[in-house]
Amino acid sequence: MDDSLSQAASAEPMPHLDDWEESLQARYPATESGKPKEAFRDYRAEARPSVKEFYRLNHQHQTLDFVLAKKREFLPLDKRRMGIWEAMEFLNTLVDDSDPDTDLSQIEHLMQTAEAIRADGHPRWFILTGLIHDLGKILCLFGEPQWCVVGDTFPVGCAFSDKIVFPEFFADNADSTNPAYQTASGIYTAGCGLDQVHLSWGHDEYLYQVVKDYLPEPALYMIRYHSFYPGHKERAYDHLMNDHDREMFQWVRAFNPYDLYSKAAARPDVAARKPYYEALIAEFFPPVLAW
Ligand code: FE
Ligand code: FE
Repeated sequence: MDDSLSQAASAEPMPHLDDWEESLQARYPATESGKPKEAFRDYRAEARPSVKEFYRLNHQHQTLDFVLAKKREFLPLDKRRMGIWEAMEFLNTLVDDSDPDTDLSQIEHLMQTAEAIRADGHPRWFILTGLIHDLGKILCLFGEPQWCVVGDTFPVGCAFSDKIVFPEFFADNADSTNPAYQTASGIYTAGCGLDQVHLSWGHDEYLYQVVKDYLPEPALYMIRYHSFYPGHKERAYDHLMNDHDREMFQWVRAFNPYDLYSKAAARPDVAARKPYYEALIAEFFPPVLAW
C-alpha cells in the first residue's frame, strides 16, 4: 500500500467523526424514563475496533504539554474570521466516510439538537447553544486529527481517573510516569474550580474560547464541558470542582440528552429553518467572529 495512504488510515481510525458519539450512545443508552440504564455496559466488548483505536491514540497523546501547545497554537484565534452560520456551512464541508442517506450532516446534527431543545420550550440562548455546540469540530478542517478534536475530555496534569473510558490506554501516556501528576489533584489544588484545570484538547474548549464573550454562563458551561463525560456523567472529578461548577453542571447535564439522543428524531428542514436561526444568531453574536 502507498505509505501516505496507510499513514492517513492510522491517523484517522474512525471512518466517520461521529462514530465517537455513536459509541457514547451505546455506553449511555437512553431509556423510556430518560434515566440511563446501568451507566457502563461492557463497552470494551462492544466498541468497534476503530473507536477503540481512536481512544488509544487520544489517551496516548493527550499530555499536559500537548494541551498547552494546542492552546498556544489555536487560542490566539487567528485562523479565520467568519460568522456563526458561515462556520456551520464550513463545518458541513467536512467529508468523511459517512453514508449521506442515513448519517446526518454536521448542520443537521446541530439543527436537530437545537430543534429538540426548542420543542421542550427552553430559552432562546439554550436553543442557540444546541445549534452551535459542535462548531469547534472545524478543527478537523484545519488538519487536526480526530483524536484531538473529539472524544471524552478529561483533566491533564493530575491522575487519570479509572472512570475514563478505556483507562488502560493511559499506560502509554508520557504523563503517567511524571510523579507530579500522579495524585488526585496533581498540579492543581483541591476545589480550585474547573476554570483552573486544563482538560484534554478538543472541540469543546476551542469553541468556548471563540464564543465566551457572547453567551450567558450556563451556555458557556454546556459548550466547554459537554464532552467531559468523566465529570458530568461519572462524577469522577468532584475534588477539582468548586460549588459554582457544581451548580453550573446541572446545565451541562440538562444539555446532554439533547446532544446524545436527538438523532433519532426526524431530519430537520435546514433551508426552511434557516431564517429563524439566522435571527437567533444575530440576537447574540456579531456578524463576524475570530476563529
Ligand atoms: Fe460535541
Ligand atoms: Fe454534538
